[in-house]
Amino acid sequence: MNNTDLKKGILTLAIQKSGRLSDGSLSLLRKCGIKVQNGTNHLKASVRGFPMEIIFLRDDDIPQYVADGVADAGILGYNEVLEKSCKVETVERLGFSRCRISVAVPREQEYPGRQFLNGKRIATSYPNILKKYLADNDLNAEIHPISGSVEVTPGLGLADAIFEIVSSGGTLISNGLKEVETVWQSEAVLIARQELDPEKSDLLGKLLFRIQSVRQAENNKYILLNAPTESLDTIISLIPGMKSPTILPLALPGWSSLHSVISETDFWEVIDKLKAAGAQGILVVPIEKMVV
Ligand code: ATP
Ligand code: MG
Repeated sequence: MNNTDLKKGILTLAIQKSGRLSDGSLSLLRKCGIKVQNGTNHLKASVRGFPMEIIFLRDDDIPQYVADGVADAGILGYNEVLEKSCKVETVERLGFSRCRISVAVPREQEYPGRQFLNGKRIATSYPNILKKYLADNDLNAEIHPISGSVEVTPGLGLADAIFEIVSSGGTLISNGLKEVETVWQSEAVLIARQELDPEKSDLLGKLLFRIQSVRQAENNKYILLNAPTESLDTIISLIPGMKSPTILPLALPGWSSLHSVISETDFWEVIDKLKAAGAQGILVVPIEKMVV
């Protein structure tokens, strides 16, 4: 495949063929109104709902393919973007496949701080990120690049520490390891080629707009409640909404219904105050798309 395969007027998006990013990537596209026509068993798929084609790749290959212009954009973990350090733009954080890149050592190992790593053997599938981390911290260690189960290496006597992605920490625990340094936070990101032509750049902007509308909606809820009309001022100050809340009179004199938008986190913070202000029959419902 080479650059000449790229079609004009449509955006070529690379996503992971199968693995921890695939479901999240396809689900985000679906919420953006983009439906993939054929399954992930093909190299390419056409889509409905957006001028786009999808190519399915191993996540490691996505940064290079985007940098080379084989794909215009891609979805992958920020950890791989950092590791490959290809010339690509990180356009947007996507909020799924969250993990961190951490240093872990055997559970019983005393860990006085980063200087412990001096002169040690560190196994990793992220040798470039590790190299930079060691250099930034004036540390000298032997880097053992491993693809596969890095977590088993200390138990086999092959390494003194590991530098690897961690999400729940369950794999570390089951291999008798403890996390001692968190070096990077990672999540799925949208990357794009640095110099897109104006037509593709416009398409990327449209895709980004859809993604942002979906993510805004996911972070926010539509809230409906009934309250005594006299406490409306207090309630409005607690949930001011996007512009200002909608107020409708109830058939019951002295009572109103208030509709607004609130972030999930804010909701849990203000719920007690809403109740104290006399709010009743509080409904919180999901929003599908949100354009601010
Ligand atoms: P490929 O075959 O495409 O090379 P892989 O085996 O390298 O896949 P996966 O295990 O599918 O990779 O992980 C893909 C990405 O998902 C990782 O690079 C990371 O960004 C993220 N990730 C890894 N582990 C987790 C986890 N436990 N929870 C959430 N996200 C994770
Ligand atoms: Mg990979």
